[in-house]
Amino acid sequence: MRHIAVLGSTGSIGVNTLDVIRKHPDRFKLVALTASKQVELLAAQCIEFIPTIAVIGDAQSAARLSAILLERNIPTQVLHGPEALVSAVLDSGCDTVMAAIVGAAGLVPTLAAAKAGKRVLLANKEALVMSGHLFMQAMKAGGGELLPIDSEHNAIFQCLPPNFSQNSKLSLGVEELWLTASGGPFRNTPLEDLASITPDQACAHPNWVMGRKISVDSATMMNKGLELIEAFWLFGLPLEKIKVLIHPQSVVHSMVRYTDGSVMAQLGQPDMRTPIAYGLAWPERIEAGVAPLNLAELAALSFSEPDLQRFPCLALAFSAAKSGGLAPTVLNAANEIAVASFLDGGLSYLQIPVIVEKTLNEIQNSSVDSLDVILDADAHARRVAQDFIGALQK
Ligand code: NAD
Ligand code: MG
Repeated sequence: MRHIAVLGSTGSIGVNTLDVIRKHPDRFKLVALTASKQVELLAAQCIEFIPTIAVIGDAQSAARLSAILLERNIPTQVLHGPEALVSAVLDSGCDTVMAAIVGAAGLVPTLAAAKAGKRVLLANKEALVMSGHLFMQAMKAGGGELLPIDSEHNAIFQCLPPNFSQNSKLSLGVEELWLTASGGPFRNTPLEDLASITPDQACAHPNWVMGRKISVDSATMMNKGLELIEAFWLFGLPLEKIKVLIHPQSVVHSMVRYTDGSVMAQLGQPDMRTPIAYGLAWPERIEAGVAPLNLAELAALSFSEPDLQRFPCLALAFSAAKSGGLAPTVLNAANEIAVASFLDGGLSYLQIPVIVEKTLNEIQNSSVDSLDVILDADAHARRVAQDFIGALQK
């Protein structure tokens, strides 16, 4: 029996994780659930799964959650605040952590899970983008398993030889990783129409249903940029061996090219329950509730190179990845601020890359040697990005 903590249980990945777990009560026991604000949904999840610990963002929400659970005689301990996310990992008795908080807020509890030797199911790509080196070191020191949940990285993980490790990759003939990208809702939109894109248009992804932040990232292709950095840390290949391919149908989730000419691909429905189930049950496979793929029904699978003029965020991410050091942390923080402002109506779609670029240019890059350095750079980049947004609004 696996004991699972789900960080971000009320989000898109969190809800899909609970859906897979619900089908397998003989295999999985939920011991911790966390959410930022959604008291009612978290309460309903606690009533269904009766975890040991539930964490919510603030004291007021915690009081409401406690009251609901008390009324139903649910013995779950209710905690609140960012430090309590670490308690959900360390004090709940979990052996497996689904890291599905969106953005930098997931970094500290995900690192705690790595250090504590948990099996980490990593959806929260921002944590790895910010702290790749430290995070991979923490995983190694903790001795736990790291299983990528992001569909592309999960696909690559499935296409690599079972004994692949960062040190043995050359002898195993792995040449290149090909990350596929749908190109989002604006792949063919005339460039002159991009200026007036609304948040709802940006969040209407053609193939995937996801949280709003990652949906905007998919529209700008910053998501693929973050995923490039994520792949770099997860699989340890040089950046020039990690390629991005536009594949609008989102059926081939990513590929590995081998030295003998073979290309291994993982195919499936665009449904996150497949990679989630894979991570939860690895190395076994379990039913995930996903409809079977019908290739005969698909008219065609197509592939093309991404257009960096249409997707300047992708170019910015390539360049931050190449620079290394704190640049990916700054890129990620500026992007989070710009996307939040776009979703609130304070910034236009085309200004997202402008804010990210200005912030990257403003902040001096340096090497990353501790979590404090990363968190300081993250906070600094957020302030700088916010100031640039303020200046644009004047
Ligand atoms: P979401 O917005 O739907 O859910 C985010 C979850 O995190 C919610 O439970 C929310 O309560 C919690 N949260 C948000 N801010 C928080 C904070 N400050 N402190 C504590 N908790 C907080 O997001 P999502 O789409 O489920 O994405 C989650 C992560 O998974 C992201 O990093 C995303 O990039 C990654 N991911 C998502 C998908 C997908 O299909 N949704 C695919 C691949 C990777
Ligand atoms: Mg992805």
